[in-house]
Amino acid sequence: MHADYLPTTLEGKQHRVTEECAEVIKELAKIGRFGLLSRHPDGGPTNLEALLDEMTDLEHAISEFRNDPSIVLYRKQLTYEADYEID
Ligand SMILES: [Mg+2]
Repeated sequence: MHADYLPTTLEGKQHRVTEECAEVIKELAKIGRFGLLSRHPDGGPTNLEALLDEMTDLEHAISEFRNDPSIVLYRKQLTYEADYEID
């Protein structure tokens, strides 16, 4: 994904995780129908290569979501509450 299109808000990062999950599912479905090594009749990557690319995108999207400052702060708060047994 081009850097200009990377989301900066938590909501945007959440939507990107959703989109990348859908793209991984699409590639898995194509592999189920046509096989790992088939490719589009017009050329391009194999289904396996496309799946691995989408998995890389998904891993990046998950990392960006997990490392969003609001998520990091929320997780620290949960740890603090658990350490001090705050309900
Ligand atoms: Mg993608």
